[in-house]
Parts: sequence; structure tokens; C-alpha cells
Amino acid sequence: MVEPDMPELPEVETVVRGLRKTLPGRRILDVWLGKTDFIHEPELLPQRLSGARIESVHRHGKFLVIKFAPSENEARAALPKRARLLQNASAGRSREPNQESPIPRHLLVHLGMTGQLTTRKPEDIVKPHTHVVIRLDDGMELRYTDTRRFGRIRFVSGELEASPLGKLGAEPLKVTSAEFIERIRPRCTQIKALLLDQRVLRGMGNIYTDESLWRARTHPARRGSTLRIAELKDLHAAMQSVLREAIGLRGSSISDYVDSLGTRGKYQRQHQAYGLEGKPCTRCGQRIRRIIVAGRSSFFCPRCQRAPRSHAAAGKSNAKTAAHANPFRPKTISGARAKSPANRRKSAPRHK
Ligand SMILES: [Zn+2]
Repeated sequence: MVEPDMPELPEVETVVRGLRKTLPGRRILDVWLGKTDFIHEPELLPQRLSGARIESVHRHGKFLVIKFAPSENEARAALPKRARLLQNASAGRSREPNQESPIPRHLLVHLGMTGQLTTRKPEDIVKPHTHVVIRLDDGMELRYTDTRRFGRIRFVSGELEASPLGKLGAEPLKVTSAEFIERIRPRCTQIKALLLDQRVLRGMGNIYTDESLWRARTHPARRGSTLRIAELKDLHAAMQSVLREAIGLRGSSISDYVDSLGTRGKYQRQHQAYGLEGKPCTRCGQRIRRIIVAGRSSFFCPRCQRAPRSHAAAGKSNAKTAAHANPFRPKTISGARAKSPANRRKSAPRHK
């Protein structure tokens, strides 16, 4: 399945940070549902969310996770019968419901391509394609709007490790350089595909993969196993700085992405490669190219990001199937790899 380009980690993180300011502590009054074909077991939403209190909001990869506080009844029901009896006898009303471990309850939201999760006043116009409205006890509404309905919503009762989230890879902002290298280096898959693979890293998508590879001067078709340790360290640092800067600018608004208040992000103005085919590279002036790698459009600078030898050799056959007939790098520099200025620049940080 081809993953849509938006939203990715920085966009979801921006939405989460916005919702975190308003949702925790709120009780849900009721849930209205429109179209539900993108919701896993939609009947659970009104059943299980009505009356629930929101405890926290966090991000897991590209998933937005709303955690609910246990209700008094649930906390009690989760205890073995004997413990309940003992508790009733000794602790009485002073019992803290959170002390034992009731069944965790979460709402998972994946924004897909055009999903928007915003808090609105009831009098605010309900946008077309609004499919979920959650009424809150402070008078606000949490609305999910999704034009194309590629998003996903799922109520999960039980540990998150047992849900689809449990299969996801490392968090890109937290993964250490050593773990990053460990995850990439044994693989002979193309680096672009590895970065996009949610089982390797959770949260990267097409935009931030291309931006990270551009910053690290790594060609998207390089194989994980051919990248040197120093190159992987550079890529790890580039990925984390790109993601942090994008979060700082509240994400990239390419299509429908908006934050929890309906405001567009600004990082799209900082893109150096993604979506800039034909524009000069800001580092070297060479025109940015677009090729297909891992089934996805990949934007890169053919001078700063040198193609692997195998790819350059296969350039002719690949060019026929790719959307663009350009070879992966100009033939004029193919024989002068070691001496080219781009190559010297690329190796510079390794001696630091
Ligand atoms: Zn360049």
C-alpha cells in the first residue's frame, strides 16, 4: 500500500501538543458519528466514550493516542474478587481508583492523508466531511474531519502493545545513534524504504525522509548495508534536526493538514528537496530531481546526494519505468567520484 505523504510525525506532534492544552481532564458527554467506514468497530465509540474522562493525549509514530481515565466501576471490576472484598473492608472510600491496574482504554486516531482533529465551539460551522463529533463537558467539541477518509480511528481496550501500535519501530526523535545504526545497517533494502518502514522507525513519511536524506547528502537508493557508520550518524543527526525544526514551525501544510485549532503549518517553506523538482539546490545550485524509489516520488540533489554505483549502472532501465527519464546522476561525473567537490564536502564531517 502506498502511504500518503501527509501528515507525518511533526504534523501529528503539533496536533497532539495543541490537544494536550485542552483535552486532559475533560469528560465526554456524547459522541455523534457520520460515515464510519474508516472506524474500527464504530459502535464502541458512543458506547465506551460517553461519560469517560480524558486523562492524557500523546503521539505514537503517526498515531494520535487519547488515553481515558479509569472509571470507578472499571477500576473495581479490574480487581480480583478477593482484593475487592478486602479493599471494601479496609480502605473504604479513601481508595484511589488508580492504585490497582484497571484495563487501559485508548482512542487511536491516524489522520491518513486529509484527516483533521480540531477542537471547536458548538456554534462554529461544521465543515463538510466531518464524521465524528465528540461533545465535551467544557462546552467544546472535538471534531474529526476527513475528506478522503484514509484516516483510521479505533477504540482499544487493553494494553497498547497488543494493538497495531505494538508492531511499530523506534521513535525517530528518541532513537539513539547506536540503535539507528543497528536498525539500518544489517539491511540491504534501500535507505528510503527503510526510513519509511514504520516497523523500523515510527513516524517518518515521504516529506521528512527526503528532507533528512538531502540534509545528510545521502542518495535515497543507497542500500542500508552500504552506508558507512559515519554516514549513518550524519543521517541520524539530520533526521532529528529536520523533525525538530518542522515541529518548531508546526509542521508542513501541503494539502489539508491543520493543527488542533485549524491553523496551517509553516515548514513547507523550509523544504530543500521535497516537491522542488527542477528548482536549484540551495547548497550547490544543481537542479533537484524526482525519481521513484521504494515506489514513492523521491526528490534529491543529484550532485550533493551521489547515486550508488549499482543504481547509476541501472539508470537506463530504471529511467524507462520512472516518471522521469533522467538518469540518476549525470554521466559526466560518474567517473570522477573520488575527486568531485560534492564528494569531498560529503566526507568532511567524518573527520570531525
Ligand atoms: Zn546540491
